[in-house]
Amino acid sequence: MTQWSSPFIGNDAAVRLLGPAELVGAGAHAYLLTGPEHVGKRTLALRFAAFATCLVPDGGRSCGSCRSCAASARGAHPDIHVIERRDDRRTIVVEQAQEVARISAIKPYQSDRKVVVIVDAEALEARAANLLLKTIEEPSDDTRIVLTSGDGDLVLPTIRSRCREVTLGKVGTRVIIRALEARGVPAEHASVLAQLSNGRPGWAINAAADPSVLEVRGVHLDLLSSVLKTRRYARLPLADRLEDPRNLARTREAMASALATWTGWWRDVLVVRAGCEELASCVDRMDELRDAATKLEVAGIAGAIRRTGLATSHLDDNVNPRLALEGLFLDLPELGAA
Ligand SMILES: [Zn+2]
Repeated sequence: MTQWSSPFIGNDAAVRLLGPAELVGAGAHAYLLTGPEHVGKRTLALRFAAFATCLVPDGGRSCGSCRSCAASARGAHPDIHVIERRDDRRTIVVEQAQEVARISAIKPYQSDRKVVVIVDAEALEARAANLLLKTIEEPSDDTRIVLTSGDGDLVLPTIRSRCREVTLGKVGTRVIIRALEARGVPAEHASVLAQLSNGRPGWAINAAADPSVLEVRGVHLDLLSSVLKTRRYARLPLADRLEDPRNLARTREAMASALATWTGWWRDVLVVRAGCEELASCVDRMDELRDAATKLEVAGIAGAIRRTGLATSHLDDNVNPRLALEGLFLDLPELGAA
């Protein structure tokens, strides 16, 4: 048994697209997997890598028990290479693209082919992207390159056009509930997590395994609630709650996670405002959602969603996270006491 022996959750069409046909003549040399966060892009890329290097693949799947599958399950397969942003960098740099070219040129060590997975391809520096393009244009027959990206539009068009694009979407709540239950999560908890996950099985699995995921989400939503109940002039000190004065990177990470949670919450407010409560995903925050939906017009809610998106772009553009957060807090509407 390996970590790939349980079925991939949802996105059946994408899973089929990366099936056995891809490893013979009709297959592509490079793939681009796109879709929202936590829907399984990296997982699917690694499953494909395990399948492509398996010594005795079983139909459309890796066998799960050969020497090669054992190595890929340990994350230590000599022919599977994962290229991603290094901790201290915001981009994938030119040396990493040179590494891909080098891997493409050598023979596989253990399997019939090598697979390079490039995580968050939109993070490729321009020079790195151009170098990678050359490797993709002149691939060796035994190399497969799988890129992932949260937004295909941000990937260099010349790279995107040379990849077979596979799009992953959000997954239905019932499918996520079944998958959690199959992993031993009690039915009631599985149902709550699946709702909160907003179609993202990776988030639900993380939250089932690590209670701090739910705690952090709660802290972020409590903070937003405090901001909305506080008069604008008094809001700036609230930004302290996401700031780690000694560690800018940690502040940035906390803020990115909070912004994603807040965007989901605001979308839910819009959904409730439209009278479709059953479609909201923050089921544990219904009272707050209703309160905001009652007090705000659609334009105000849409404005908050856009403003939160702007703060996310500021963060991506390397604006000081504290400033980006303060700017957002000053622009969000006042709800008064609940
Ligand atoms: Zn195998």
